[in-house]
Amino acid sequence: MRRFFLLVLLVPVLLLSSCVMSNVGAPTAAPFTPDPSGNVAVFTPDTGVTPDGNATVPADGTNSVVTPIDSWTEGTPAPTSQSGSGPLSGLVICVDAGHQETGLTEKEPCAPWGPEANSKVNNTTMKAKATSGTSGVSTKKTEYAVNLEIALKLRDALEAKGATVVMCRIDNSSSISNRERALMANEANAVLTFNIHCNGSDNSSVSGVEIYVRGTGDNTSEYAERSKTDAALGQKLLDRIIAATGAKKRNVNKSDSYTGINWRDHTTFIVECGFMSNPEEDVLLSTPEYQDKFVSGIVKFVTDDYLNG
Ligand SMILES: [Zn+2]
Repeated sequence: MRRFFLLVLLVPVLLLSSCVMSNVGAPTAAPFTPDPSGNVAVFTPDTGVTPDGNATVPADGTNSVVTPIDSWTEGTPAPTSQSGSGPLSGLVICVDAGHQETGLTEKEPCAPWGPEANSKVNNTTMKAKATSGTSGVSTKKTEYAVNLEIALKLRDALEAKGATVVMCRIDNSSSISNRERALMANEANAVLTFNIHCNGSDNSSVSGVEIYVRGTGDNTSEYAERSKTDAALGQKLLDRIIAATGAKKRNVNKSDSYTGINWRDHTTFIVECGFMSNPEEDVLLSTPEYQDKFVSGIVKFVTDDYLNG
């Protein structure tokens, strides 16, 4: 009797779970249409399909991030949190924790534009898809792990203000190239990307925060204007971070060398949060209180300078 009762209970459960499984097991990729020049990725609108078929959208309607992705395919929707309420409601922001545990030595084009636009850095300039970064002289921690700790705090703080956040990775085992991360942010219509990194130097006394923004790019006047705007915003961002942390203020640098900047169609900051080669700063970068201060500086920039500047 008891066995029969269990069977009656079990059959509907099994049927139900197999339905769920079949829904998530076969993701349908959205059509991907390369630009005729072959340079620019153009995406069709969201189909609502999660990127890898394993991700699930929260059913409770809360403002939480779609579950982790280990990889992402061009042309599929980017995983984003749902828009919440607050001053940043409706704003889509990408948070990209630099590097990952396992580098990808295969190479990819560093920029979307051709050699005729920029002879120094263009789509024939190939760079490794992903690297694992530096490590801490005191903590012995890896940069990719510290980057992720700060990035997750930043995600939570931005979401608490109502922002929709695109996380390029939320674990260290992800396998996503720098170009894919950029296209992921573009696809989600992000207006800002914070690409979180930590620095390294041969000189252990070097410390402080520095920021990279786009440089000459495709040499058009439009690109020059974007570079100017991003550099001015970068200065404000740097000021907010320094005010929040008391760290040494370094520079805002324009550069064409970063795949993660070149492929993004919106304002992108590579934030070098500090030097893991400096014994004291390395420890600070892994301290939750310091990470909170750092994040509060970035959020202050978004609410007070980016939105109201
Ligand atoms: Zn780095």
